[in-house]
Amino acid sequence: MSDSLNTAVARHLKVLSEQIGARPASTPANRAAAEYIAAEMRRIGLEVELQPLACPNWRCLSETLTLDGEALAVLANPFSPACDVRAPFTAVCTLAELEHADLSGRIALIYGELTRQPLAAKSWFLSTPDDLRVVNLLEQKAPLAVLAVQALPGSTNRLVEDWEFTLPSATLPAESGLALLTHPESTLHLRLETEQQPGETRNVVGRRAGSRPETAVACAHFDTKYDTPGASDNAAGVAALLALAERLQTERLDCGLEYVAFTNEEYLPIGEDAYIPAAGEGHFERLLLAINFDGLGHRLDALTLASFTCSPEFQTRLEQLSSIHPGVQWIEPWPESNHSSFAMRGVPALAFSGQAVRTWAHQRCDALRWVNPSTVLEAAELSAGILRDVQSQPLAWLRPVESNA
Ligand SMILES: [Zn+2]
Repeated sequence: MSDSLNTAVARHLKVLSEQIGARPASTPANRAAAEYIAAEMRRIGLEVELQPLACPNWRCLSETLTLDGEALAVLANPFSPACDVRAPFTAVCTLAELEHADLSGRIALIYGELTRQPLAAKSWFLSTPDDLRVVNLLEQKAPLAVLAVQALPGSTNRLVEDWEFTLPSATLPAESGLALLTHPESTLHLRLETEQQPGETRNVVGRRAGSRPETAVACAHFDTKYDTPGASDNAAGVAALLALAERLQTERLDCGLEYVAFTNEEYLPIGEDAYIPAAGEGHFERLLLAINFDGLGHRLDALTLASFTCSPEFQTRLEQLSSIHPGVQWIEPWPESNHSSFAMRGVPALAFSGQAVRTWAHQRCDALRWVNPSTVLEAAELSAGILRDVQSQPLAWLRPVESNA
């Protein structure tokens, strides 16, 4: 079984990250990934439900920036409207400078304090007042376009990724930012050829019934950012999810099992916007546990595990179960990704990940050769051990006392 699971994990990784590649929501690649996962779930023997979610379908046909006739590297921001503008630019480094800047008829070049992190999307639950202030000021001042300078050398991470942001915008690699900042009197020509249409994506949910009404959930998102093969983030998570389902399929378990391959974890609207209404809030009261796999298996990293809203007794048990996997490192709870949607509703949750995802994810370098299939399988095996242990436990034993009230 382990041999065939090894082969299956390697195949899931290859199909998703190399044969399909970048698979942002509503793109043909995203649909191909959903179809692959649904077919695998059916092969394993699960009942499959597809949950549709309306989501813009955006693509970039070309992106060019010239400074006094010289071409510079530029990366269109996802969901940016198209533009073809020739204009001088104003460079803005701090929020205070942005407040005072007159940007009419100009291109805004934002850097420093304003682009230390990607600007959070307006509707994201973790966006900060400062993020919203920057976005609102830019939209009020309405420059012809916004160029955001990526300060991390070599990074292709986009700095604005919000389909509700109305201005044409692009990310400038650090070198391009330097070229502009050392030629402040120049005129720029920015041309972004992009298209956006209404689109649809879907979650893929596989289920098997148990002898008791309570269910355990395992999940992983299958979408990626634009322009990344998404091997560790998150072909690896999907491979762990499918390996877990396959490992447990021939075993009798008391609880029901639900395997959710979420779409659109990377942008808004998130896959949970389809999952939660379909499930109903009462669903979360019957969940024993939710396990999420996101950003694991990097060859230069340990497999990390974090827990959320678990009772002290359950936490002790989890640490016993994980102790037979000395390569697993416990880390502090982190608030992003799909496990948050369960933890916020009082469901005990676990997140398998890795620290390398913080620097590698969302970029072209998140490629298959950096992912170790054995680590992916180890996450599935440890999860199987945890679910065997949890399947007959009373719900109240797993949850901390305060969330039972
Ligand atoms: Zn991810």
